[in-house]
Order: sequence, then C-alpha cells, then structure tokens
Amino acid sequence: MTPIDGRAIALELSRQTAADVAALAARGVDVGLAVVLVGNDPASEVYVARKMAETARVGIRSFEHRLPADTSEAALLALIDALNKDAAVHGILVQLPLPGHIEAGRVLDRIAPGKDVDGFHPVNVGRLSSGTGGLVPCTPLGCMLLLDSVIQEYRGLNAVVIGKSNIVGKPVAMLLLERECTVTITHIETRGLADIVRGADIVVAAAGAPRLVRGDWVKPGAVVIDVGITRVAREDGRTRLVGDTAFDELAHARAATPVPGGVGPMTIACLLANTVRAATLADRG
Ligand code: NAD
Repeated sequence: MTPIDGRAIALELSRQTAADVAALAARGVDVGLAVVLVGNDPASEVYVARKMAETARVGIRSFEHRLPADTSEAALLALIDALNKDAAVHGILVQLPLPGHIEAGRVLDRIAPGKDVDGFHPVNVGRLSSGTGGLVPCTPLGCMLLLDSVIQEYRGLNAVVIGKSNIVGKPVAMLLLERECTVTITHIETRGLADIVRGADIVVAAAGAPRLVRGDWVKPGAVVIDVGITRVAREDGRTRLVGDTAFDELAHARAATPVPGGVGPMTIACLLANTVRAATLADRG
C-alpha cells in the first residue's frame, strides 16, 4: 500500500498558489483574503492564526476582522456587505462556529458567491450539483487532489462516501459523480455498511468515527481517503488524533491517507488555491 503524503501534496499546491499569486501581482492584481472571527473560541483562534500564517507565506494579503462575541448579526452582515463591495478582497472567510445569537446560515448566504472561498453559499452548492463550476469546499477539493495523485481514470469506479455532511460527504460525492464514478453515499443509518464498502474502488471516510473502516472492509487495490479526525486520550494522559480507518490494517489497499498527515494539511492549501481562483475569475470579469 502506498501512503498518500498529504503534507507533500499540500506543499506542492501552496508552491503553485504562490506562483499564481505572483503572476496575478505582475498583472496588477494583489490577491486579498478577508478573515472574520467573532468572539474568542480558542480552537477558532488557532485555526485563524494558521490560516493567516499560510496566507502570508504564499503572498496573499490578508484582512483580519476580529469582532467581539456580543457583535450583533446586523453588524456582522454589514461587514460582509462592505467586504463584498471591496475590490481588494477576493475571498471572504467567516470562521465557524459563530456565537449562538447569530444565524450562521444567514451570514454565509450573504457572502458574494464569487468571494465564497469556503464554497458553502447555496449558489456554489448548486453549481457543484449541476457540474457548472463555482467554488468548491476546501476539504472535498483536498480529497480529490489526493485521489488525483494515485488515480488517472475514474470512469466507472465504484466510490463509497461515508458521511453525508454538507461540508464534506455530499460535496465529495458530487465531485466523484462528476468524474463518472458510481457513488454510494452512506451515513449513520446505513445498513450493511461493511458490505457496501467491500464493493468500493474508492472509499472516502468522513464520519468522525474512530477506526470505523476495518481492513477486512476494504477491497484489495482500493484507494482510501480518511477525512475523520477524532482526538482520543492516550495511556500517558496525552491525546492523539485518530482517523475513521484502521490505517495499519490497509496493507492490501492500493493507497491510503494517514491521520494525521493526509487530508488535514490539504484544507488550508485548498482555501488559498480557492482564493486565487476567485481573484482570477474576478480579474476576467
Ligand atoms: P458531521 O458530524 O457533520 O457528519 C458526520 C457524518 O457521518 C454524518 O452524515 C453521519 O451520519 C455519518 N456517520 C457518523 N458516524 C457514522 C458511523 N458510525 N457509520 C456511518 N456513518 C456515520 O461531520 P463532518 O463535519 O462531515 O466531519 C466528519 C469528520 O471529518 C470529522 O471527524 C471531522 O473532524 C473531520 N473533518 C476533517 C477536516 C480536515 O481534515 N481538514 C475537515 C472537516 C472535517
């Protein structure tokens, strides 16, 4: 089994993004990403700090908007409206979760679809379902780039996606369908999951259920992408990250992603690639 090295593939994508940013700068377009953080959720602070550092590394300008936890929904929507109009801002990222008094859906729907670098706006969701372009959510895009590193021909392959969330499972399934795979979407209520997975050439596990997919579920020669991340306690009292697949039981697979070091590193790299894509589309008018 070939381990798919998400860190190396993400690094290569970031190099390409940095080159694209430089090429746009040479044409007078300074790519800019606005990051909006409401409140001081510690995990969100860490994610935003990581995103800002990577943004700077590829040469994208970032505009950070830190708002207090008691910011009203109306004030946040007014900020989104201003960012939508700001020509220096090509991408808008609102870090989730938002405080309970703010309706996240209303805020995400307010982002101009062309600046929706998370790909969550209904227009982009619709474009993905109808196969008509648009900005694609970052983690699913990352999954496809990892698959592309080992699969040349998707047509007719059986793909099983475990998990049907709007941010991972459904968009991954749509992307696989676009490549002419035969896609089965499964979830917590699915019966006979092991047998469904046994028929798959491609398995994308995005359930958040540690070691759900065992070695004997996976067909020899299948490619396995593990999106799941669960933090579990170790015997020494520290914690470690566990994926949705039993990676150590996948020797007979063709290729698989480890956790950590597989899908995880791709997400920010894809966010920045999406920002460049948004800037390129805006530049073309
Ligand atoms: P979610 O909780 O929104 O959805 C989980 C889905 O999995 C649901 O559709 C549920 O029905 C299904 N499911 C749960 N347990 C199952 C089981 N035992 N059998 C079959 N189906 C099951 O989660 P999400 O936001 O889609 O995230 C899924 C996992 O991916 C989580 O571990 C999350 O931390 C991880 N994740 C990683 C990244 C990244 O690597 N960058 C990004 C997003 C999510």
